[in-house]
Amino acid sequence: MMHVFGSCLAFVYGMVLGSFANVIGYRLAIGEPIFPRSRCARCHHTLAAEELIPVLSWIALRGRCSHCRAGISVQYPVIELTTGLLWMMTFWQAYPIGQMALWMTFWLYLMTAVGTDLTSLTVPNILTIPAAGLFLAASGATGELPWCTAVIGMCIGYATIVGIHLLSGGKMGLGDAKLYLAVGAVLGPLRTIESFILAAIFGSITGIGLRLAGRLQPKQPVPFVPFIAAGVIVAAFYGTHLMDMYARLLYR
Ligand SMILES: [Zn+2]
Repeated sequence: MMHVFGSCLAFVYGMVLGSFANVIGYRLAIGEPIFPRSRCARCHHTLAAEELIPVLSWIALRGRCSHCRAGISVQYPVIELTTGLLWMMTFWQAYPIGQMALWMTFWLYLMTAVGTDLTSLTVPNILTIPAAGLFLAASGATGELPWCTAVIGMCIGYATIVGIHLLSGGKMGLGDAKLYLAVGAVLGPLRTIESFILAAIFGSITGIGLRLAGRLQPKQPVPFVPFIAAGVIVAAFYGTHLMDMYARLLYR
């Protein structure tokens, strides 16, 4: 009974805070102040309380502003639902309270970065540099990772993306490399590399799919942070399991 109640609570809080994370990401990207009440991006109609319910409002409004009928991006309900699910899955891990707080904060952070990247194709330094320090401290202090593993994770994450930035002639942004500082501090070196390989696979499959469907022009830039987030999510929950499976395939 407690488990069901806790799961629901984590899901609902995750969706509400995920909604904030997305809005903060959007506002950072367009350089608006973070705190005013949410408004329609086109007609500036201030959203009423019943228009602010995560996921449900979007469905009830059929993805359109109640005032001017402008489309509301599917990014909103997707990020809200994803954060809700991530919080619930984190709750199921039965972590000690410190680690649970670390992971839940980390998911909000990652969704904020997804929000900025989807809006402006960049992840600003204000989002990546302080978070690198914060998540290193939190990872070590909560016992998620030994300090030295967290530091190695950061270095590996940063170095991997900088390497790809150089090899790709700048196609891969340095914002992604700075984002990987925080990722490395929380995932540790092995799962960090794994998350990046997964992100590259997810990104390639989606890119090829969109090209085949005629939805993507050659050389059209694609936000990569959503794929990083997908890779990080899989690596965080199933990374160790996947590595074992891979090792068994390799050595049998
Ligand atoms: Zn409107």
